[in-house]
Amino acid sequence: MKSLNNLTSKQLYQWLNEASKQAINGKLPTYIPLLQNIDPRLLAISVITKDNNIISAGDTNITLALMSIIKPFFLLYLLSELEEALVFKKVGNLSSNYPFNSLEQLQLDDGFPRNPMINSGALTLASLLPGKDSQTRCNILQQWLNKTGKCNLFLDQLMLKSVRSLPNINNQKIIEKLTKINHINEPEITLDTYNKICCLSGTIIDLARLGLLLVKSSHISEKNTFIVREIMNSCGLYEESEKFAQKIGFPSKSGVSGAILSIVPEQGAIACYSPPLDNQGNSVASLFILEKIANYLNN
Ligand code: GLN
Repeated sequence: MKSLNNLTSKQLYQWLNEASKQAINGKLPTYIPLLQNIDPRLLAISVITKDNNIISAGDTNITLALMSIIKPFFLLYLLSELEEALVFKKVGNLSSNYPFNSLEQLQLDDGFPRNPMINSGALTLASLLPGKDSQTRCNILQQWLNKTGKCNLFLDQLMLKSVRSLPNINNQKIIEKLTKINHINEPEITLDTYNKICCLSGTIIDLARLGLLLVKSSHISEKNTFIVREIMNSCGLYEESEKFAQKIGFPSKSGVSGAILSIVPEQGAIACYSPPLDNQGNSVASLFILEKIANYLNN
């Protein structure tokens, strides 16, 4: 059986080439203008092994907003800093068959967010971050991730401006519902914290380095990385999670900017980036590459 260590950049370039033909089947998201206007041909991959060997290919110099990929790391931070029970008093760990920004799912669950990988869960957890305002809260998470993950995440102000430029009705309704039932307080700070942490940005290599936190880290307990990987496995790709888990089997998380981060347990992490998305909001070309890598590793 092959391992991530056997991968070559030549192989990565070949997959990127094939993936570029798949990307045209996806669509750019329309609710964040900067993401709608991005070059759909951008494509990048970075693979990091647990011994810190990195191989990358494609547009590795550009930076991208993590968007929903921040969610597992946000959960990891809270599990590390707060009691596990406190976190799971606020969010569940069950998968959902509804879209990532569904209000209906939250209503069906009487206002208890199903899991931290969907917006209702991450918005709720944004209310648990310490700090007097959204900037302080975002800074705390950013600094912790940069230190423990040895990466260089920064808050992309232009992306934040773009996120704020169009009203996000779904997120607003979710916040209203959570506030009404007293599941969160300080709704404005909470929403703004969420928007800011989604705009934390870095290169594809930063993303791969973050992924390594969920493989091995001297600073984080194995129990917490296990919890996060399990939730990524069942909820990380929204409605597609179960299908992907059966087919590919890597705990993964996608974001609306077009990145997907996958963990190969005991081995390392894979970060892929290509902006066009499928109907569930997962990057088409990234899913394609991950399937190629899974087949490669299983042969
Ligand atoms: N900030 C985005 C939103 O709330 C994140 C969603 C995503 O990446 N899927 O819509």
